[in-house]
Amino acid sequence: MNTRKTDTVWAEPYKIKMVELLKVTTLEDRKRAIKGAGYNTFLLKSEDVYIDLLTDSGVGAMSDRQWAGMMMGDEAYAGSANFYHMEKTIQDYYSYKHIVPTHQGRGAENILSQILVKDGDYVPGNMYFTTTRLHQELAGGTFIDVIIDEAHDPASQHPFKGNIDFAKLDKLVADVGVEKIPYVCVATCVNMAGGQPISMANLKELRVWCDKHKIRIVHDMTRVAENAYFIQQREEGYSDKSIAEIVYQLCELTDAATMSSKKDAMVNTGGFLAMNDESFYEKACNLVVVYEGLHTYGGMAGRDMEALAIGITESVQDAHMHARVGQVEYLGNKLRARGVTIVEPIGGHAVFLDARAILPHIPQEQYPAQALAAALYVDAGIRVMERGVVSAGRNSETGENHMPKLELVRLTLPRRVYTQAHMDVVVESVCRVVEQAASIKGLNFTYEPEYLRFFRGRFEEV
Ligand SMILES: *Cc1c(COP(=O)(O)O)cnc(C)c1O
Repeated sequence: MNTRKTDTVWAEPYKIKMVELLKVTTLEDRKRAIKGAGYNTFLLKSEDVYIDLLTDSGVGAMSDRQWAGMMMGDEAYAGSANFYHMEKTIQDYYSYKHIVPTHQGRGAENILSQILVKDGDYVPGNMYFTTTRLHQELAGGTFIDVIIDEAHDPASQHPFKGNIDFAKLDKLVADVGVEKIPYVCVATCVNMAGGQPISMANLKELRVWCDKHKIRIVHDMTRVAENAYFIQQREEGYSDKSIAEIVYQLCELTDAATMSSKKDAMVNTGGFLAMNDESFYEKACNLVVVYEGLHTYGGMAGRDMEALAIGITESVQDAHMHARVGQVEYLGNKLRARGVTIVEPIGGHAVFLDARAILPHIPQEQYPAQALAAALYVDAGIRVMERGVVSAGRNSETGENHMPKLELVRLTLPRRVYTQAHMDVVVESVCRVVEQAASIKGLNFTYEPEYLRFFRGRFEEV
């Protein structure tokens, strides 16, 4: 299919070969289910969900080619042919020299943090991510947010809200010294900021800054292709570059990467740690055998490595990305037109509702975004997730809640799964819930897990 970058209409560059039937539930069923789940959408059973916008992680639809690749799984314990195919694909598309497969992104984060982060270190990053920060902390580090201030303002129209603020980086160096900064963690299409991109110019500037201070750049490349799409659409000098070219250029500016291939690369599981440095690779091989598996499978089946190799090539196609982000924008534009407050500009993988604006009567201590997510499920069986104070967790030293400026509900679109008509159903349900917002009550924890509490925490209505 021929999609030009300037086209305003888009269509999916595929047709549907197999379908999965959805179950429809009643209002009574859903009230019972959400109470049983402790008002946490992570604890709902999937079969009780109608449209599942919980996450874009591992829930994409694989292509017929990926499924064919699954049949070519070489399940040898060592030296699987699929590993070498995956390795070459990552080298060709993402530029990194050495690849260590892991069971998913956090497996790579664990190995990375254990190797590079020492007790008392500081790790600056363009906004935290839940598992990324936790692994930095478990290794003795402290995360420092160095994203531009606009990223914390849901109304700011800045086109690259994922950008790094160099004044914040300079301040960190002045405060703690370069020896205590093992690397800068830079995410492409920053999840927690609302799926917001970093510009090529900003990353180039970071390269110069890091070279000057002899600090590594580690790339959280989970959504690099979506970031590349925004650069192509918004940044001067890139409109005639392909997404594949921009992806390569982004990766080339960094020294190492962690990847959750469950997102961009459209497989159900998997990830990797990649780097250019030989001795870093040697250390990673030593650790991967402890936590994940041999360095040529790292917790992945051969068939999954094959599907990943094929998924990477599909993820950087311009027509794919146009339809992918086009669908997110379709949903976001419709909600905005109906007066719902969302994070602007619309991100790459999700539309984020501003729970503070929608539920002004619920204080942040009563978890407004969590309450809004639960209410959305009850209305029409649409499952979404909290991205606010519950996700932010507690300060590991003081035990106080981290109080993020952004109190959001994330409507995340799986890749190649739902249709435009599903999006229309979502819009109707969100509008109904927003109209009845005054009747939504705040929540209190009844059970709070020690780590990543948003996954398994339970609540009751205030
Ligand atoms: C999902 C994600 C991770 C963690 O990856 P998993 O595969 O879920 O372990 C890390 N960083 C970002 C930005 C993510 O979205």
